[in-house]
Amino acid sequence: MIGSFTFENLPCRVVFGSGTLATAKAEIERLGGKRVLVLTTPQQEAQGKRLGEALGPLYAGLFPGATMHTPVDVTARALTAMKACDADCVVSLGGGSTTGLGKALALRTGVNQLCIPTTYAGSEMTPIVGQTENGLKTTVRDVAVLPETVIYDVDLTLTLPTSLAATSGINAIAHAVEALYARDANPVTSLMAEEGIRALGRALPAIAAKGDDREARTEALYGAWLCGVCLGTVGMALHHKLCHTLGGTFDLPHAETHTIVLPHALAYNAPAVPDAMTRISRAIGTADASQGLYELAKRLGAKLALRDIGMPENGIDKAADLAVTNAYWNPRPLERNAIRDLIARAWAGEPPGATKAAA
Ligand code: NAD
Repeated sequence: MIGSFTFENLPCRVVFGSGTLATAKAEIERLGGKRVLVLTTPQQEAQGKRLGEALGPLYAGLFPGATMHTPVDVTARALTAMKACDADCVVSLGGGSTTGLGKALALRTGVNQLCIPTTYAGSEMTPIVGQTENGLKTTVRDVAVLPETVIYDVDLTLTLPTSLAATSGINAIAHAVEALYARDANPVTSLMAEEGIRALGRALPAIAAKGDDREARTEALYGAWLCGVCLGTVGMALHHKLCHTLGGTFDLPHAETHTIVLPHALAYNAPAVPDAMTRISRAIGTADASQGLYELAKRLGAKLALRDIGMPENGIDKAADLAVTNAYWNPRPLERNAIRDLIARAWAGEPPGATKAAA
């Protein structure tokens, strides 16, 4: 049954396809940009230079210093670079870390952003930026940080190593999973969520088997876009909060943490969200959604245990305490012992448990 809902479309232009990077110059001109600062990580600097050269007279400079968690000192240096070349537009070419830097600059200056994502993180579709200062990550939600234009070019994702494609893809699936049981879920976002999970659930095993499978890479990027829209449109719950806490407290890698925690967080919420469980199961073609996601990660060769990505065993209790400290909405009430159990399972790499809600 359809209940009442609110749905807000976020204003962002999307260009999707293969070879679409060639439209970058026209898209910048469409935004009125005359001087562009290109942003990349150090690893993608050469790619940024090539893009800059293709932009001809629009190319004003390159800042190849983007890094995880958007540290404010990096943003300050990028701001100096932006002023030095008198840029009126930024182009972020890369994954969520690079997109985050573009957003941090937009937050401070209102500069227009053209975002060219090369992973499946989905940040380009959200009005959210997380920033780190003195080891503390804080999140700002402001429509001013939403990129004006996004170019998805499948060709750029062909170099994404299959291991990264797997974890980045499950990171995207996590956005759609939580969108299906979000407090502000709505029929349109739920359609995108189910289709996003379906596309990635089908494409990721094909990419793992054959990294240059262009059709699968296309379907994965399409799924990642849909999942990114979900993240930008509705609120997230336990899974995202847990990953934020674990990542920040133990300095764990973003996409791998999401990949390991997702089946367990979903198993925790399962008793409270039967409709979402049905839709996720249908999307990945499995009888049990949380078990199916665990099997998917295993099949992709992803790490399944938090202990294998650097979390200490004595962190389990601390993480459980933190997870219930800052109250936030979740479809199932936060029960400390059951959450400790789910973190312990994720730490050890066990399959998700059939955690029952307290009567
Ligand atoms: P990332 O951007 O840190 O990229 C990981 C590494 O892969 C980098 O070295 C990058 O240069 C490289 N890389 C990226 N694309 C590549 C490609 N196609 N080929 C080869 N190498 C490539 O990783 P990520 O998982 O995309 O982003 C994680 C960050 O994004 C985290 O800080 C997370 O908090 C943030 N994030 C924010 C939001 C939001 O809405 N604000 C959403 C999702 C993620």
